[in-house]
Amino acid sequence: MTDVVLSISGLRKSFGGIVAVDGIDLDLRDGEVHAVIGPNGAGKTTVIAQLGGALPSDAGEIVFRGRRITWLADHERARLGIARSFQITSIFPELSVLANVALAAQARQGPSYFRMWRTVRGDSALSEPALAALQRVGLEGDPYRPAGILSHGEHRQLEIAMALATEPSILLLDEPMAGMGAEESSRMVDLIRSLKNGHAILLVEHDMDAVFALADRVTVMVNGRVIRTGAPAEVRADAAVRRAYLGEGSIGDA
Ligand code: ATP
Repeated sequence: MTDVVLSISGLRKSFGGIVAVDGIDLDLRDGEVHAVIGPNGAGKTTVIAQLGGALPSDAGEIVFRGRRITWLADHERARLGIARSFQITSIFPELSVLANVALAAQARQGPSYFRMWRTVRGDSALSEPALAALQRVGLEGDPYRPAGILSHGEHRQLEIAMALATEPSILLLDEPMAGMGAEESSRMVDLIRSLKNGHAILLVEHDMDAVFALADRVTVMVNGRVIRTGAPAEVRADAAVRRAYLGEGSIGDA
């Protein structure tokens, strides 16, 4: 539980004159859910993008199991076992649920034109892990139905299946509860909890009920900086954290 799998130090990112991430330190340990919370614009999504490799960092280091990966491309990080949950916009609605997951699995297996043009139905090397990932997230039903007909909650489950198909050891989840009703959120909480065994999970989320139900540790970001990292109860009781949330909705009862 105390093994650090991902260690971030002095990470920075600016967009023109906007300093989105202003020198943050953070670590992620084996078997934990580490939630990153903070008001809108705090820099949380930018950090996820830097960790997944979608955005290059201006400064700082990212170390994965002792190896510096700061400058690795996103597909190289995926191959090492770091998966960022795909966004709904990266789902092909006209392709089957299974094909979407199988295409994501290719990120890990490496690109192959032959594979690309084979049907997923006939390629068991792709469809078996994809089916297993669908089962893991509880997306039952016909795997050959088009992804476009899924409900919002099922789309989010599909995104997680797509991440799982790459057989990651680290999951970077960016607002998996966004747009969900209470019932869907509670199902997603159960799913994320079930994934703790075998994955280190970095969770960016605004739904505080979900955060405090799931997190082993919480980091609070404000204006690109970390103001507090600690156990959920300590963080919720912290005066600076409570001040940061004034006018932003409640962080819940301490
Ligand atoms: P939210 O909770 O609202 O999603 P966040 O904590 O994830 O916010 P970021 O999306 O990381 O915050 O944004 C941090 C800051 O960087 C914001 O001021 C945002 O406007 C800015 N920013 C993020 N991405 C870009 C971009 N591609 N170009 C310019 N500015 C950006």
